[in-house]
Amino acid sequence: MQTLTYRRALLKLSGEALVGEQGYGIDANTLQYISAEIRDVHKLGVALAVVIGGGNIFRGTEAQAYGIERVTADYMGMLATVINGLSLQSGLEKIGVATRVQTAFEMQAIAEPYIRERALHHLGEGRVVVFAGGTGNPYFTTDTTAALRAAEIGAEIVLKATKVDGIYDADPVAHPEAVKLQQLTYMDVLQRGLKVMDATAITLCMDNRLPIAVFDLMQPGSIRSVLEGKRIGTFVGG
Ligand code: UDP
Repeated sequence: MQTLTYRRALLKLSGEALVGEQGYGIDANTLQYISAEIRDVHKLGVALAVVIGGGNIFRGTEAQAYGIERVTADYMGMLATVINGLSLQSGLEKIGVATRVQTAFEMQAIAEPYIRERALHHLGEGRVVVFAGGTGNPYFTTDTTAALRAAEIGAEIVLKATKVDGIYDADPVAHPEAVKLQQLTYMDVLQRGLKVMDATAITLCMDNRLPIAVFDLMQPGSIRSVLEGKRIGTFVGG
């Protein structure tokens, strides 16, 4: 534990993180990889909670394309996060990491409802807690959920795991000369419209002085490096 800068963290995984090379759903190897990365930091004694997205299955913003009402589509998106949450729980339990899933709305047969005190209890018992179902409200995102739950459980940092190794001043695929930004303030992100997390999530982090680390999940050991205080990726703070 001595080497760790952060001992209580909220990891945000997008649904996309589970897709792997395929275009949709959950890739077995990727699930295994992510579970192992989580186990490696969990072993260090970090109190770790996870908020998982659902974009690999369904996004409410795609409602129009399906001719589905937006609010209904958002609930479908929230349900997708539960599917992902259960798959992550399974991946973690399989390698010996005690994990509980809590959902923002009741799904009694398969998971606990979100109860802050119980989540804190699980973390205290050394269990990973996966928060699924987003905030439970339409028009929000799982990034906002991550900021919210992080504040609620007293996390010291939001670990925003992505497919790129940080935030760039332009799209690095379209603009090879794009420069990686190592340190940003919340206001930089909001004013420059940088695509880190949505504005609601950033504002919530800013109001609660929660730093955000943006880093490449597929770089082995990246979660651990961030928790050790290494400045990989981009760091957003006050
Ligand atoms: N969603 C919602 N309220 C929330 C969180 C999520 O309505 O509090 C819905 C929304 O439709 C969103 C979908 O769930 O598109 C999946 O979440 P998100 O897009 O944040 O997942 P990610 O992009 O991280 O995979």
